[in-house]
Amino acid sequence: MSHTPRKRFGQNFLHDHNIIYNIIASIQAKPDQHWVEIGPGQGALTEPLLNEKVRLDVVELDRDLVVLLREKFKQYPNLQIHSADALRFDFSSLANGDNKLRIIGNLPYNISTPLMFHLLDNAYCIEDMHFMLQKEVVDRICAAPGSKKYGRLSVMMQYYCLPELLFEVPPESFDPVPQVMSAIVRLVPHSQPPVTVNDMSKLNRVVTQAFSQRRKTLRNSLKKLIEEEEIVALGIDPTLRAENISLADFASLSNLLQE
Ligand code: SAH
Repeated sequence: MSHTPRKRFGQNFLHDHNIIYNIIASIQAKPDQHWVEIGPGQGALTEPLLNEKVRLDVVELDRDLVVLLREKFKQYPNLQIHSADALRFDFSSLANGDNKLRIIGNLPYNISTPLMFHLLDNAYCIEDMHFMLQKEVVDRICAAPGSKKYGRLSVMMQYYCLPELLFEVPPESFDPVPQVMSAIVRLVPHSQPPVTVNDMSKLNRVVTQAFSQRRKTLRNSLKKLIEEEEIVALGIDPTLRAENISLADFASLSNLLQE
């Protein structure tokens, strides 16, 4: 069976065996671990994972690929195929008992950010996640204060997890060849939040507001939300810009917000 890649499903199939080998080597899958693969496609990562004797659930949106996967992997009793949209899939329904989920996916780049936040809603049942993403997005997730790439995505992702860029993946590793460089990122959800945030929607509001005008000082960009004296009282210099303050600072600022 052959499958024509569909652009609307963000299909870029991995075909470089060295890259596939490097991914499998760096994730260290062990027998009986519970893995979830998002967007298995034609099974480039699915097959080596199954060979590690893990328990595997896969979530694939393209029904034609689901048919192909069912046929290709019918001899594997440890595989469960879900024909579903990962953005709406209830991942917590897969987790049972103490066995946390390990997540992996070469994600469609157009849905990668909402999908990561959807997964992080259930961070308590996730051991770790390994994703292939646009390198640009991985850089933004991992960026520290002071960097040009530091922004809303860095602060929000780092609240939930510890990110680490593992390695880059060049465009020629895929079919069809994407326009951009890719990279593998490891995300390990924190067992305890690294800072105290009373209300996540408030953190989101402060961070979004501060970075929506990233050239402005906090005094100006947060004017509508927080008084300058309140910023000073927290020990934060109000003449700094959003890109120069830490997650801990954003957390204290968010805890000042009224309803
Ligand atoms: N893992 C494969 C395929 C990567 S392409 C490989 O590395 O070769 C991305 C895959 O995600 C495709 O199979 C695509 O059909 C699937 N996909 C796209 N949107 C999805 C969604 N919302 N939920 C689940 N799968 C999706």
